[in-house]
Amino acid sequence: MKQLAPALLDWFAQAAREMPWRADKDPYRIWVSEIMLQQTQVNTVRPYFQAFMKRFPTVQSLAEAPQDIVLKHWEGLGYYSRARNLHKGAQYLVTEHQGQMPRSYSAVLKIPGIGPYTAGALLSIAFDLPVPAVDGNVVRVLSRLDAAPYSIESSSKRREIEARAQALIPAQAGDFNQALMELGALICTPKSPQCFRCPVQNECRAYQTERIGEFPVKKKKSRVKAVQLWVALIQNERGESLFCKQGKQGIFREMWCLPWIDKQNCDLQSFMEKLPVQTDSGEHLAEISHTLTHRQLSLSVYRYRLQEESRTLPEPFLWIDPENNANYAIPVAHQKVFRFLAEHPLLSLF
Ligand code: SF4
Repeated sequence: MKQLAPALLDWFAQAAREMPWRADKDPYRIWVSEIMLQQTQVNTVRPYFQAFMKRFPTVQSLAEAPQDIVLKHWEGLGYYSRARNLHKGAQYLVTEHQGQMPRSYSAVLKIPGIGPYTAGALLSIAFDLPVPAVDGNVVRVLSRLDAAPYSIESSSKRREIEARAQALIPAQAGDFNQALMELGALICTPKSPQCFRCPVQNECRAYQTERIGEFPVKKKKSRVKAVQLWVALIQNERGESLFCKQGKQGIFREMWCLPWIDKQNCDLQSFMEKLPVQTDSGEHLAEISHTLTHRQLSLSVYRYRLQEESRTLPEPFLWIDPENNANYAIPVAHQKVFRFLAEHPLLSLF
């Protein structure tokens, strides 16, 4: 594998895609981009990253922002625990390190939301420290290069592939780690790797032995759980809808949702009786589906008229105008209720 690093670096120098977070080596920008890019495509992340940086240009500005505003800027990206942890991480960095990213692997790993991959990516890209950054993409590429059954499913397996990656890192650690990731994203893709134009074809054992299909070794798929929800759309005369801030646990934690409950836990009538407003008997509005990583949600949405306006709502309830909700992060599953209404204008005449 003597030629791997030079060949990969040459290729990266001409093939690297332009990305807003690659404009400089600011550790804060690299950190935010790496968190956004987890489980999310580059093209989806671009506009979110730009808007996030405009609103939170420094780690201090992120640390000082209310959590609701941070979640609002994450709205639509999904996996909101990433945003909550990024926010906590910014507060930790300001309190413990005067807002400066430490240059030690163990210190970076203590920052909330930063695991081995992000620590490696951050330290290598921002400071050129020789730390491996091994995610699913890199596992795939290294598995094929070595024709070895690497994985990161356990810490001992992770240590094995990190040691392998570490041994390959040249002086330009940041570019090398990014080149491995870029190769995985552009050429050594999961389903149809384009070996014919791969810059490290000569170094690839799986290619040379015609065993590409065997790597990476497939893991068993986790089962997706079906969850059925009752959802209540209750609107007042001002066009606002009743929302409820979620607690620290559960699928929509700490976001603003229409009142909802798992059908397994309650029938619709009993659920409605627990809400702090008087409504009519309601009508069925829509069935809406939404997929999360491990759950397939089915929302049975019922719409209700208010019978009398409640002057004050108890916490955590609030009337929110869905058209003007810049301060409230609403999960996409619940935004779909309003999208459904927008697509069916006759139903909006309530
Ligand atoms: Fe991946 Fe093919 Fe390149 Fe090997 S030759 S690293 S399998 S793209």
